Amino acid sequence: MGRVALAVCAHPDDLEFFCGGSAVAMVRDGWNVWLTIATDGDRGTHDPTVSRESLAAIRREESRKAGQMLGLSGIIFLGKEDGELYADSSLRRDLARVYRQVRPDRLITFDPWRRYELHPDHRAIGFAAIDARLAARLPHYYSDLLRDGLEPCTIKEILLFNADAPDYYVDISSTFDAKLSALGEHRSQWETIWDDTARSLRQEAESAGRSSGHAMAEAFKRIFVPMGPVSAGWRPREEGC
Ligand SMILES: [Zn+2]
Repeated sequence: MGRVALAVCAHPDDLEFFCGGSAVAMVRDGWNVWLTIATDGDRGTHDPTVSRESLAAIRREESRKAGQMLGLSGIIFLGKEDGELYADSSLRRDLARVYRQVRPDRLITFDPWRRYELHPDHRAIGFAAIDARLAARLPHYYSDLLRDGLEPCTIKEILLFNADAPDYYVDISSTFDAKLSALGEHRSQWETIWDDTARSLRQEAESAGRSSGHAMAEAFKRIFVPMGPVSAGWRPREEGC
């Protein structure tokens, strides 16, 4: 069985935008890559005549198509309200449930410590995703999870994208086009600004490539989670978790 990665994102197009090339590269390397999308992205338009319900439905379908193009193992929609994400116990509980279901070796999410990050959902999902790691690991967090048969799991590695101080680069020289194609499936977002977006993403990938010896790359902050004393008393049921 291949290694499992789980990306935790705020909005339907975040994965493709920030680390779509890496997702494809990981799939090609044999990883099972899952995606959790916290909000429906139902405020992501400048058009006041579009209802939030119809936009949410459109964006879910766009995500499914993009996910198929990327080769994702699955997408889990949490259905939260766009623009109203908070790193609170409710979101942490939902994410801990996902972690115990998917049991990832690698967690991929926003860098919540990025300076001057303007989008509140991007800050919130980064903190919640990181905080939920501990709740997934210890049995006395959210005991309903254990009652549902979801045993604790330990995530050992975190990759933060949109990172303030990147130190880990993924070569996307051969997957950048797939990233753009998948991102392009989010048609509701790109009616007028697609060319500028594609150009800036290419420049960003080339810049990250120069920092890492690749033609194109995506940059991350990589964290290996230190195993504390609690590890001694817990033996995970499944290898890798
Ligand atoms: Zn976003």
